[in-house]
Amino acid sequence: MPDPLFPTIVAGAAKEALRFGDHALSYDALAAVAGGLARELPPGRVAVWATPTVHTSVAVVAALLAGVPAVPLNPKIGERELAHILADSEPALVLAEPGAELPAGLAALPRRDIPLTGEGAPIPPEADPESPALIVYTSGTTGPPKGVVLPRRALATTLDALEDAWAWTAADVLVHALPLFHVHGLILGILGPLRRGGSVRHLGRFSTEGVARELDAGATMLFGVPTMYHRIAGEVGSDPALADALKRARLLVSGSAALPVHDHQRITAATGQQVVERYGMTETLMNTSVRADGERKPGTVGVPLRGVDLRLVGDAGEVIDDVETVGEIQVRGPNMFTGYLNRPDATAAAFDDGWFRTGDMATRDADGYVQIVGRKATDLIKSGGYKIGAGEIENALLEHPRVAEAAVTGEPDDDLGERIVAWIVPAGPPPSETELADHVARLLAPHKRPRVVRFLDALPRNDMGKVMKRALGA
Ligand code: ATP
Ligand code: MG
Repeated sequence: MPDPLFPTIVAGAAKEALRFGDHALSYDALAAVAGGLARELPPGRVAVWATPTVHTSVAVVAALLAGVPAVPLNPKIGERELAHILADSEPALVLAEPGAELPAGLAALPRRDIPLTGEGAPIPPEADPESPALIVYTSGTTGPPKGVVLPRRALATTLDALEDAWAWTAADVLVHALPLFHVHGLILGILGPLRRGGSVRHLGRFSTEGVARELDAGATMLFGVPTMYHRIAGEVGSDPALADALKRARLLVSGSAALPVHDHQRITAATGQQVVERYGMTETLMNTSVRADGERKPGTVGVPLRGVDLRLVGDAGEVIDDVETVGEIQVRGPNMFTGYLNRPDATAAAFDDGWFRTGDMATRDADGYVQIVGRKATDLIKSGGYKIGAGEIENALLEHPRVAEAAVTGEPDDDLGERIVAWIVPAGPPPSETELADHVARLLAPHKRPRVVRFLDALPRNDMGKVMKRALGA
């Protein structure tokens, strides 16, 4: 019986499935090469050296066809993190692009170069939907990355829920510039189009020129992280060719972190397009999205996806039903992971009576749209008896013409409990501390004014462009 994750690959077709620069593979060619490689994989787990190349996709598809869990590795990984992941996941083999130089930490593992041509071997039989498909490490934004065991069932569920929300079809061609070792780039960006029978054009490296070129050449969707849309927002007002290209897109999707409202607004002003935000996690895959046919509300992450139950829970464990009250997002549904690898205690602690505690705080409006306030651990500031979300202040700061990037944290304060600290990357000559504090107080409320402003050349960000607030003392 064919593998149920990829009926499209099994059916085969002359149609282009993947293109990364000069390397393109049709569905037929992908079935042949991944099917052949699948037959050679040993039992146990395989590590995949996840360069942004077509090889990584071939390796992951081969592992999925073989029913062998793949562990994608960040090719820029540091020694210590690599040692942790190898000891944790114990792969039997590493699959890598021919010629890729692997770090010393991988020397002890047998290596198999990933081929790009193959013999069309038959596709192995159907695997148990509960069996592990991938082990993906979290982004490490709030602590050391955790290995998340994702069953085949979760992948299929989340991709089909996105099909429903985004009216995603085989006719869609995705512009992709994300890394391939996290959920966003790998599961949504590669496995999503393959499951649908669509096509992927990967840029290798993000550039606004690359995005414009592919949209002009007929691509229909763009998946990006906020740092990419921030670049687009900064350039699109003065680049008519980029604006025209973006106008052609069927869907612009942002996720992995909050897209500032100011960036939403600048993109809409220049193109008429409204970016769709979706919210997910490595552990839960996708939870919510603005729907392609639904009202777009910038600054929200939309409504729960098909099959996802979502609730907000207050500090005392009470379920919050009224609108505009902040609570922790908890979710359950068939999109959920199996557990953290080797960490039954952490897995147990992550659930509240069957509901997964996301650690993200949010409100809901009368239409059920979820608005994320920030992470419980780093983005909720308790100051002067108020609970203040960092995101709201960051959005306000970004509206100041001389603020290029902003991050807000809390730090201990004798009077207030915590005081609000604004970390600012200025655009041009830095505005004064008072000017920024007054700007926030005018837009929001006096108690939301930053007490301290610190200027930086760049915010500390990880590979997904997420601000590492721990590095800012949060
Ligand atoms: P770690 O768990 O290792 O600290 P991480 O939480 O950043 O890292 P991921 O699983 O990649 O690792 O990211 C999930 C988190 O990303 C969510 O919990 C949420 O905080 C954030 N996130 C994802 N999409 C959005 C979005 N559209 N708006 C705001 N936050 C988002
Ligand atoms: Mg997390």
